[in-house]
Amino acid sequence: MAKTLRGSFRSSLKTTLKNALARKPSLKLPEPMLEKMTAGRAEKLPLAKMEKLAAVKGMNDILPPDSARWEWLEEKVRSLMLRYAYRNIRTPILEHTQLFVRGIGEVTDIVEKEMYSFEDRSDKYGDYDHLTMRPENTASVVRAVTEHNLLYEGGKRLYYMGPMFRRERPQRGRYRQFHQIGAEALGFAGPEVDAELILLAAALWKELGLSDWRLEINSLGEPEERAQHRAQLIAHFEQHADALDEEARRRLHSNPLRILDTKNPAMKAVVESAPRLIDFLGPQSLAHFEGLKAILDANGIAWTLNHRLVRGLDYYNLTVFEFVTDRLGAQGTICAGGRYDYLIEQMGGKAAPAVGWALGVERVLELIKEQGEAIALPVPDAYAVIPEASALPVVLQTLQALRAAGVSVQMHASANAEGMGSMKSQFKRPMAAAHASH
Ligand code: ATP
Ligand code: MG
Repeated sequence: MAKTLRGSFRSSLKTTLKNALARKPSLKLPEPMLEKMTAGRAEKLPLAKMEKLAAVKGMNDILPPDSARWEWLEEKVRSLMLRYAYRNIRTPILEHTQLFVRGIGEVTDIVEKEMYSFEDRSDKYGDYDHLTMRPENTASVVRAVTEHNLLYEGGKRLYYMGPMFRRERPQRGRYRQFHQIGAEALGFAGPEVDAELILLAAALWKELGLSDWRLEINSLGEPEERAQHRAQLIAHFEQHADALDEEARRRLHSNPLRILDTKNPAMKAVVESAPRLIDFLGPQSLAHFEGLKAILDANGIAWTLNHRLVRGLDYYNLTVFEFVTDRLGAQGTICAGGRYDYLIEQMGGKAAPAVGWALGVERVLELIKEQGEAIALPVPDAYAVIPEASALPVVLQTLQALRAAGVSVQMHASANAEGMGSMKSQFKRPMAAAHASH
């Protein structure tokens, strides 16, 4: 069967080629060459019985029973966001490439090498869009807020959940499709909102039973302060040029701050001796930072100052922070964020301050597993055993009523058309399922 299908495809491929060649008399291919051109193709054709396909590398299926852990986490987040008065926003997965290039910054890992971008099919005028699958959601939120003029009546507190896409090397805690939950507060300038967001994250860790984390904070100051620091930073790195790796040298003049964020241990010394951004901050920036720290202290949230914390995206100013754990190996950042007071204006909106964070769902769930936190998986309240097939209409009617009343019932169903099987054999199923879920 497979052979004849392949054979017939091959002969039709040959006919197509022959016809195409007939329309181009200048190109004459001898029969043996035609044979050669079509031979290799036939081997690659789908067989009548398809080979098994696998998911795209770095993109995972989330299957039951594990998916129940995802639902459990999402439910906790929804309930918490409600209590903090953050409202849900859902933006498209595809956006114009330019949104991320402008928003995240051209000289960042994400834009330089991690985006899934493509050209859409052209319309009848030959025009086409450059599109990108979102690598993060802040730029999209800012786009939506601006497009729909959401800040018209004042600030907005928003949250989102969903898949993001980055073409990174897949490894533990780093995937090509991964999921973020994020919170953004737009239109508020004071450190109390930075604090609120950090307290919200801390409350979430508590609800999830996570204790093995620490909070690192830093302040990136304002653009003028950063410009002064930048000049000295470049001078420092130029003095120690031989200690820089290739990537650092490339970024020396385009994005020197990012060098501080290096994961290369060989550069530890040169990075630690670099001028500190905090020493360049003026009184206003410092007061903002102090305001945040005072609120964190009053709420018993321990923090450490990390001078090298600069974040991988260009849009941040003032507060930046990360929640980090040592229990997940190299991919230890479970949540990260900061202020981006200039992004909205930069994206064409009316200038407004903003601050937000995003957490990596896979990493948070992994940390819950690492800590041995047990999550109760859902088990039906009842299992419906069916005496005989003729009872099915009544059975389903009864089940509808039970479920409408809030009872969770799994109905016995047979795998083949022969019948229901004996009541005894039907009983075995729920017993096995109950054992498996404990
Ligand atoms: P990292 O330094 O680990 O690459 P990042 O700075 O690129 O992180 P952000 O863009 O700030 O990460 O995203 C926020 C959070 O999303 C991260 O702290 C992490 O938990 C998660 N995250 C980012 N990239 C991935 C990925 N490829 N796979 C899984 N989770 C990710
Ligand atoms: Mg990254």
